[in-house]
Amino acid sequence: MIDAISGAIAGLRTAVDMTKVAVDTRDAIKIGEAKSALIERLLDVQNACLALQESNAALAQDKHLLAQEKRELEAQIVQMRDQANRLAQYERMHTPAGSIVFVDKTTKGSPDGAVYACASCMDEGKVSTLQPIFRGNQLTCPVHGTFGLNTEPQRGPMGMLFPKK
Ligand SMILES: [Zn+2]
Repeated sequence: MIDAISGAIAGLRTAVDMTKVAVDTRDAIKIGEAKSALIERLLDVQNACLALQESNAALAQDKHLLAQEKRELEAQIVQMRDQANRLAQYERMHTPAGSIVFVDKTTKGSPDGAVYACASCMDEGKVSTLQPIFRGNQLTCPVHGTFGLNTEPQRGPMGMLFPKK
């Protein structure tokens, strides 16, 4: 692109030189020819500049799109890092009833009870907290159903015995 402009400007310089020679000789025909050549070379320069302008506009558009893609990729990286941090908070375990679940390491041994997450959801890269049901003897995922937690029935608040599973 720059080469085209340089070439057009070199052509214009030659035409200017020819014009000077023609003017020096005071030859009306040569001056007329030089004038035409000068106009043609000026048009060449103008066309080369227009082409450069178009090329610059295309580059600016590309730059804009790349900047947008960069922002989107950066946002994805942040999201994936957050996800990885969340997943790192859990570890896989077998419940006493034999189900495979994930447990939030920070809640293990908590007096409020551990918080569990669904292993099948984890495989899909999602963290789904399992809700305790049947007095905490089972855990349930809204997508993957129910998992056994404890094998022994637990005593309810009224001293009632809840059946296992
Ligand atoms: Zn699930």
